[in-house]
Amino acid sequence: MSLPAPTPPKYIQRTHQARSLHMATEAAPNLAFTDCWNSQTLECYSSVFERTVWMALRCNQWACKPCARRKISLLARRVNDAKPNRLLTLTIDPSLWPDPRAAFDGTRRLVSELIRALRKQFGEIEYLRVTELTSRGWPHYHLLVRSPYIPHAVVKRLWNQLTGAIIVDLQPVRNKFQCYTYLVKYLSKMHRLEWTNRHVSFSKQFFPPTEPLEENPYGLKDKVIMEARPGKYLFAAYRNCIFIELAHGLWGLKRHDEPEPDQ
Ligand SMILES: [Zn+2]
Repeated sequence: MSLPAPTPPKYIQRTHQARSLHMATEAAPNLAFTDCWNSQTLECYSSVFERTVWMALRCNQWACKPCARRKISLLARRVNDAKPNRLLTLTIDPSLWPDPRAAFDGTRRLVSELIRALRKQFGEIEYLRVTELTSRGWPHYHLLVRSPYIPHAVVKRLWNQLTGAIIVDLQPVRNKFQCYTYLVKYLSKMHRLEWTNRHVSFSKQFFPPTEPLEENPYGLKDKVIMEARPGKYLFAAYRNCIFIELAHGLWGLKRHDEPEPDQ
């Protein structure tokens, strides 16, 4: 996936007074910039559009609902391409740990140790690991695995030797399997997990190689980050100005030869 070619500049015919841009952003932030309420403003110069431009920087935190949703759907798309063929659930035994955090700290590295042991016996195994919390806060590991056949009994024995836990579930991925639904199910509760932001991890070869994105297609330089959300910042700094969306999510001041405001 690559960004559209930057030249000649293609103007998106969307313009706003600073006031309406601000109001649109406050009422429904996705209209103008982003649905992330914690976003900040990136101000920089675009050599392609030959002016100062502004865009939103999302917070990208799991605790932020719109950002978490977006992360999950981007991840689901990539996971689909990775074509996992098995679902593996590894539990922990709460009776062996003083609290959930100790269980997490004591077992998360054992997942890759388990995979290493399985690779020795069965060959190439790649996986994506998602941590889920039970209703009582204990961690579980859900793995999407791409591997040859592995007997359940072997996984169970190895995981038991590593962690003392006895419950392991291993199933083939079925036709109607939906990555997005699977990931939402486990990841959407993760804002409750305060002691780690590592909700997802994966082995090196799990994802197929992607084409590199075109580097800096709008020629952005001299970047400065403002703490305020874009709508708010632009309204405060350019109250009576008119803005034009130059490319998706990228706004600059309108010039005379550019379209009049939409409202
Ligand atoms: Zn956010």
